[in-house]
Amino acid sequence: MTIFSKIIAGEIPCYKVAENDKFFAFLDINPVNWGHTLVIPKREEDYIFDLTDEELGEMMVFAKKVAGGIKKALPCRKVGMAVLGLEVPHAHIHLVPLKNEGDMDFKHKIENPSPEKMTEIAEKIAANI
Ligand code: 5GP
Repeated sequence: MTIFSKIIAGEIPCYKVAENDKFFAFLDINPVNWGHTLVIPKREEDYIFDLTDEELGEMMVFAKKVAGGIKKALPCRKVGMAVLGLEVPHAHIHLVPLKNEGDMDFKHKIENPSPEKMTEIAEKIAANI
């Protein structure tokens, strides 16, 4: 079971943003920018391009809804999207609110994001989806 499957199962806490029968969205614990969200399929698959065509399409549509919530909830010009997947072997899309290019620098992380602010952001995004 991957760490992300444990999050879906509620065995590991997270700042949940959205969920449907096939996908789940929650804040990245080490955000590169406030509102940095991960979108994952409930079915475990390591590499995103090993998902079926249908799953990948549905995941993008789900990510689009979440990105809409991020854009309404937080001040940004656009919501950027990235796929890395080198750390956690469970397919995921990173969604990051952007004001400028540097907001999606994965070498930069917000230091010790407070639980209060993370909770507030997750609730705000969820309310706007
Ligand atoms: P990647 O696999 O795309 O290189 O990076 C995995 C991402 O998942 C990282 O941005 C990391 O901060 C995030 N991450 C890893 N473990 C956890 C966790 O237990 N909870 C949450 N919310 N995010 C995690």
